[in-house]
Amino acid sequence: MPARRRLIAVPLTFAALLAPPAASAQFGSDGLGDEYFPLAGNGGYDAEHYILRLDYDPATDVLDGHVTVRATATEALSRFNLDFRGFDILALEVDDAPAAMLRDGQELMITPQRPLAAGDVFEVNVKYSGVPEVIVDPDNSIEGWIPTDDGAFVVNEPQGSPGWFPANDNPRDKATFDFRVTVPRGKVALANGVLKSSRTVGAHTTWRWNQDEPMAPYLTTATNGDFETSFTTLEDGLPLYLAVDRPERTGANFTRIPQAIELFSETYGAYPFSAAGGIADNAGFVGYALETQTKANYANEPGSSTVVHEVAHEWFGNAVTPVVWRDIWLNEGFARWSEWWFTEANGGTPAATAFRTSYNSRSATSSFWRRPPADLGGPEFMFANQAYDRGGMTLQALRETIGEADFFALLKTWYAENKYGNVTTADFIATAERVSGDELSAFFDAWLFGTTRPPLPGA
Ligand SMILES: [Zn+2]
Repeated sequence: MPARRRLIAVPLTFAALLAPPAASAQFGSDGLGDEYFPLAGNGGYDAEHYILRLDYDPATDVLDGHVTVRATATEALSRFNLDFRGFDILALEVDDAPAAMLRDGQELMITPQRPLAAGDVFEVNVKYSGVPEVIVDPDNSIEGWIPTDDGAFVVNEPQGSPGWFPANDNPRDKATFDFRVTVPRGKVALANGVLKSSRTVGAHTTWRWNQDEPMAPYLTTATNGDFETSFTTLEDGLPLYLAVDRPERTGANFTRIPQAIELFSETYGAYPFSAAGGIADNAGFVGYALETQTKANYANEPGSSTVVHEVAHEWFGNAVTPVVWRDIWLNEGFARWSEWWFTEANGGTPAATAFRTSYNSRSATSSFWRRPPADLGGPEFMFANQAYDRGGMTLQALRETIGEADFFALLKTWYAENKYGNVTTADFIATAERVSGDELSAFFDAWLFGTTRPPLPGA
């Protein structure tokens, strides 16, 4: 994507800024070293809680925002960044005092009146207005705040969040979130977590949602529009929020959600979040579904396996999240294998057969095998089917290599030890070797990093 750089200088009017910063205070880095998205996230602090107050008018596409970010400085900072694209910034404060800003692309550089010391808890308030910029990814898919015929479809993997709110947009900086989304009366706004209230005043309705478990910014949503809703609870008390954009969508396969939650809770461990759900929107032009935390977004009518896939991501992707985007097979391979496992566990085709069908559909000379799932080659290949199919094959091949008992113990251990945290491929390999007691470097070299077709287990 061609660079779209925009530099906005704001006069530094504060006397404090004219003095040299405290000896140790420095600029927080503009990224966290992600190989695919070097500017994703920022250094020097840890975001802990966001309050997103959003007011959206689908008729004009204007989004007014007031976002609060509570964070802890992890180093002395004279300046730090948030990731944010577009909009006019109407007000910017750090700890209730106006702060100075510079903007360059997605980097919003914030200079508080007084430098922050390591360990300081601070609060940033950003008020803004404008028409959100839809983000185009390196693979040409679109994300962010995407207008639909009746509202907006809001998805962010991997870099859409800064298109509608200022964030420390890196999967490793998880936080809790409150949402207060105001839309025209009669429309529904769906964000992550539990519904706290929906209140109509005059021509507007404000929907308040709370996500009380850690969430990476890319998993947020605030999809809105004309939806038929079904807000119920499952037998164990888990709230289930379903929203369907009729008449184009029916959400018929949402019956899979409780079934998949039940199976995966048994297989992997207890469901990680305080709510579940799904949103079937009429946004086919977006072309994909995304596992936005607790309520996956579906741009099209979701098929059965797609629903199962997105539910599996609540464990792998949402609760257990990669440190870097290159390791996305830890999301997609696990979700693909979970589809196979759901079918097997419900008396259908065994995963061993699904694995061989997928394997045999690519000849030994197919280019498919040249792109390894744990090293896809760049952000434009993040969603290549190697992350999904070869990732899923890796897990089934591992199952057949270390045996049923060790494999299922590994899945439970992997989830239990990393729930709400972040992981790497190296972590997974180490855990697999520890749980199985086997030396597996040749196995993983072939399945995760090899550029030729690995042999089938036992072959
Ligand atoms: Zn997926």
